[in-house]
Amino acid sequence: MWAVVACVVLFGCGDDDAQSGRAALDHARGEALEAGATAAGVDATLRWREAAREAGLELDRLRAERHLEGLAAQPAVACVVTVARARLAASEDPRASYLAAYRATESAPDDAACRERARRLLDELAAHRPPAAELASRGSIAGCRVARVAVLGSGVITAEALGTRVLLFPEGDCLLEGHAQGGLFVVSGPGLVVDSAVPEELPVGAGGVVALRRRDDAVVLELAEGASAQAFDLGSRFVIDVAAHTTLDERAEGAARLVVIDPGHGGMDFGARFDGLKEAQVALDLAERAARIVARRLPSSRVVLTRTRDEIVGLEQRAAFANAVGADLFVSIHLNAADEPVRVGGVTTFVLDVTDDRQALRLAARENETGVAEVTGIQRLLARVHRADQVERSRRLAEHVHEATLAGGRRVLPELPDRGVKSAMFYVLVGARMPAILLEASFLTKPEEAAALHTEAYREALAAGIAEGIVRYVAELDAR
Ligand SMILES: [Zn+2]
Repeated sequence: MWAVVACVVLFGCGDDDAQSGRAALDHARGEALEAGATAAGVDATLRWREAAREAGLELDRLRAERHLEGLAAQPAVACVVTVARARLAASEDPRASYLAAYRATESAPDDAACRERARRLLDELAAHRPPAAELASRGSIAGCRVARVAVLGSGVITAEALGTRVLLFPEGDCLLEGHAQGGLFVVSGPGLVVDSAVPEELPVGAGGVVALRRRDDAVVLELAEGASAQAFDLGSRFVIDVAAHTTLDERAEGAARLVVIDPGHGGMDFGARFDGLKEAQVALDLAERAARIVARRLPSSRVVLTRTRDEIVGLEQRAAFANAVGADLFVSIHLNAADEPVRVGGVTTFVLDVTDDRQALRLAARENETGVAEVTGIQRLLARVHRADQVERSRRLAEHVHEATLAGGRRVLPELPDRGVKSAMFYVLVGARMPAILLEASFLTKPEEAAALHTEAYREALAAGIAEGIVRYVAELDAR
């Protein structure tokens, strides 16, 4: 790079340098145009700009910047562009870059690739991390502004969406509320201004939502016939969960209890991996086995899984799904893992609650695909929706499932360690309105447990334990 810069500034370039610089620029531009609104397209655009800058081709640099500007307006890559820009500005103002990258992840909860990029930048800039209060503050926006809206489906059980989760990302001083108005669900609040960046009309046509509309002072959902909506405020996000008509029918069919089992991870997100085992696959297998047993033992109940194939389901969608179908309880199944050799493996069960346990924070960061810094962000957010009775009921469910799963596992591995029921900040549990737990059924990275997980007998024993815990909790509910 120095040779090129020097030759431009002092001597004028030799033909070779000029040609190779031009070739690099043409190549990067070609890649950028071809890749379009993807993370690769953003990377190529940055290389294009850099090549133009190095070759001193001002017009090309402006073209690359205009192209980047266009990408920034594309929702699919807006987060990636924000993080890329934060990285470029990091040498000048690392603190501002930290804030920009931090905010980017808050507004893109389902963009795993962007979260990973942001997390890397936040790690590099850790020394410049602003105090928590500054990270928590929404900046100096007067009033309340909503500039971004996301619509997530939750139709993972049947072809037809059973519900929809709509997220609004408020900035400034917001006190949003949602209320039903005929066939509409209207979100408004004092001083609310809905930015023109939110589409005027967004046809949804699934999961109980016909369309989403922007008014200057409100966001309006047009609900399908028979659909109902509930809203709650998570601070950085305002959540509206819509249950489609079909879900009400399902409840009306007379199912006594509705159990939702959530096999962790899936698709490209395979979770932990060790000894030929993928967490996503083992979790799905355990969930299917447990679901079959619960259905057999509680014939009047309905048991549904948040995924039945090896596919990606957003963390947001899992709890939203359980809310949408009106589940009585939610059990998310995972397998534990650690980067360092594991001395004590075993079974751990978590309820959603604040914690300062370092191990729990690290595990939550792994499961949430975020940094520890962001897990503490979720803690802050949870403080607003924290309900003591919800924690208490979740703890009862956790105790039953934990005890029975441990007993089940010990039928095959008599020494299987008991790591206990703990609190942690799992994103997948945030917003669930029923007793909700996350089970780490064994340690994938503990060789004895991995070997056992390869066998049908151990999987069936764990699944029978999970099912037993669920059955016991339901019996306790019915006895009330
Ligand atoms: Zn997991």
